[in-house]
Amino acid sequence: MKKTPFVTKEQIEEIAKTYPTPFHIYDEKGIRENARRLKKAFSWNKGYREYFAVKATPNPFILKLLQEEGCGVDCSSLTELMMSEACGFKNDDIMFSSNVTPAAEYKKAKELGAYINLDDITHIDFLDETAGIPETICCRYNPGGVFKMGTDIMDNPGDAKYGMTKEQMIEAFKRLKSMGAKYFGIHSFLASNTVSNDYYPTLAGILFELAVELKEKTGVEIKFINLSGGVGIPYTEDKEPNDIAIIGEGVHKKFDEIMVPAGMGDVAIFTELGRFMLAPYGGLVTKAIHEKHIYKEYIGVDACAVNLMRPAMYGAYHHITVLGKENEPCDHKYDVTGSLCENNDKFAIDRMLPKIDMGDYLFIHDAGAHGFSMGYNYNGKLKSAELLLKEDGSVQMIRRAETPKDYFATFDFCDILKDVKY
Ligand SMILES: *Cc1c(COP(=O)(O)O)cnc(C)c1O
Repeated sequence: MKKTPFVTKEQIEEIAKTYPTPFHIYDEKGIRENARRLKKAFSWNKGYREYFAVKATPNPFILKLLQEEGCGVDCSSLTELMMSEACGFKNDDIMFSSNVTPAAEYKKAKELGAYINLDDITHIDFLDETAGIPETICCRYNPGGVFKMGTDIMDNPGDAKYGMTKEQMIEAFKRLKSMGAKYFGIHSFLASNTVSNDYYPTLAGILFELAVELKEKTGVEIKFINLSGGVGIPYTEDKEPNDIAIIGEGVHKKFDEIMVPAGMGDVAIFTELGRFMLAPYGGLVTKAIHEKHIYKEYIGVDACAVNLMRPAMYGAYHHITVLGKENEPCDHKYDVTGSLCENNDKFAIDRMLPKIDMGDYLFIHDAGAHGFSMGYNYNGKLKSAELLLKEDGSVQMIRRAETPKDYFATFDFCDILKDVKY
């Protein structure tokens, strides 16, 4: 599907007068409409709820916006819990799906009344000792082997560090029950960024059958099944986006086939989507500041991998629109690069784009999830601002850009840098 930025060149020129590039910008309208489509797709399930994966876009303004749409949050660290608490999420608004969990994080999650999702059977005693076993508890399942849909291998759970084997799930539920837990949840995350309407229904089929078996073998009361994240988006224009209404119906069908006949028709479905909720509704806006003609043609921009790491880290494709040149022919082949002293700092390699002139604004698509949040500070480069394009067309800063003072803040215990002038 053709990718069109949700902002125009004229809008960006206006915004850049107040907020210099680079910056991330998010589309409130797109986020809200998508969240509503998701909710509607699962409205057949009484207890349905989306717990937004905070790690995708950890910004309190975004969390509040999703809160208004009825979402909870999925956290996996102390600071994610702290941010969620400050935004007013509590108790069953919070899912805590962590792994290799430090004691302090279990304590905090328990104190907030969050649903705790145990990644491993050995965490039962650890949780008991650090925070106590809550009334409702969730366990994460890993079926091992390869995860197939039809004949396609989707991912390799047998190689993934997460979750418990089926035998461990049975054992864990029995033990937790004997330790006082009353209600149970089942969680699993088997494939990342799936562009297929079949992923959730296939996963749901596996988890529903497991739920029936667990109930039979352990006699516990299952309260929810958490399909976790993994519903993805097409980063390239040659693919079509997932249809969440079809996905919701696919899960519904499995539910009616497996859960209802087992007398488990009141079990709630939870999701923990990150990418699907935010990725298409955020873009990284950057300006062309240098061009270079050596063995290849290079366009140097004022953003770098610090602002969006996915291309450098995974070789991920992010579509680029040169704003104002949407209808010009893509007859120039460029590497679009940032300024890090690191040759993988390239937003695009051998990309056909319209002729780029210095000062042109580039809109890097689908940066709304796992974009800003993955940022780092290599080369002492600073993180950008985040802006929200509101439904009324106005722009709100939802995170200021980092300054050198922020970068040096962790030396504030000593006075070596006291003479730095800001
Ligand atoms: C990362 C993550 C998610 C969100 O994944 P997406 O691919 O962004 O949907 C959900 N749950 C857990 C436990 C995760 O680690």
